[in-house]
Amino acid sequence: MLPKGANLQKIRNGTRTYAVTPHLPGGFVKPEVLEKYAHVAREYGGTLKLTSAQRIMITGLKAEDIDNIWAELGMQPAMGFANCVRSVKICPGIAFCKRGKQDSVKLGLELDRRYIKKEMPSRLKIGVSGCPNSCSEAIIKDIGVIGTDEGWDVYVGGSAGAHPRLADKLIAGLDYDDTLRLIDTIVAYYKKHADIERLGQFIDRIGLEKFRADVLAAFAAGPAAPAPAAPAPAPASVPTAPAGGETGLKAGDAIAADSIIADIIRVYPETIPVLRGFGMGCLGCPSATGEALEKAAGIHGLEVRELITALNKVALKEEQQ
Ligand code: SF4
Repeated sequence: MLPKGANLQKIRNGTRTYAVTPHLPGGFVKPEVLEKYAHVAREYGGTLKLTSAQRIMITGLKAEDIDNIWAELGMQPAMGFANCVRSVKICPGIAFCKRGKQDSVKLGLELDRRYIKKEMPSRLKIGVSGCPNSCSEAIIKDIGVIGTDEGWDVYVGGSAGAHPRLADKLIAGLDYDDTLRLIDTIVAYYKKHADIERLGQFIDRIGLEKFRADVLAAFAAGPAAPAPAAPAPAPASVPTAPAGGETGLKAGDAIAADSIIADIIRVYPETIPVLRGFGMGCLGCPSATGEALEKAAGIHGLEVRELITALNKVALKEEQQ
């Protein structure tokens, strides 16, 4: 069982180590909070590691220490569950940077307050940069905002990782309030119409022009009219398998160790809660869903036989009805 608020990091010679990552809005940290990190790392033999999401992870921890560590830190975990707003990365902007054109700290902290850990169709990352140098890497975030002399430019659909995608510019030159309102509109549209897929995958599936037309029409209609201008195509109930990922699993087949995750959730979508219940939340990630069940189970430190039994219980029972 995964300790509450911790991630499994490594299994070495059968021994598991865990990491905790407290939420640090904007990466700002007070000296007294830094002292708590240092104290916990010393007391529990942890290693401190800066993350790409402007946080400080404490790793190399034992399961039995996790509850005490959270109590001593007095902080909240950065992550709630897999498919949520994972991070809001904020550059220093006009508050601290000589090149800043807009107040990225003010906007970024407001976005963090509104969205962090909110449930989404897949993981969602936001980047806010105070000028076109884009030090928060807004162009590879699901939602990126970049300050210019004219206001804020808003980008959508960026991602890094194994399948990188540069974001598309949606609109330029918005003021602070309209930027927040547009992002509310984007998020509402994504939540309403997307499958288990990153925002960029969703845009590629329905087409950028449709996405732009629908979102900007809803935005122009005002905050009380988030509905799209035209009906979106009926979303498929499950994500499509990545190219070449199918193993031939079909309805009625038993799920096996070499079954590909994408095939399992395509043929038996009712198994999605089972996979999530085992802590396998990366169901919107093409790399993860292209893996065989046995490999994915190993990465998550799970016993594959136990997982297969739980999946087949749901899948084959549904099939017999
Ligand atoms: S993006 Fe611009 S404002 Fe922000 S830290 Fe970089 S140079 Fe400074």
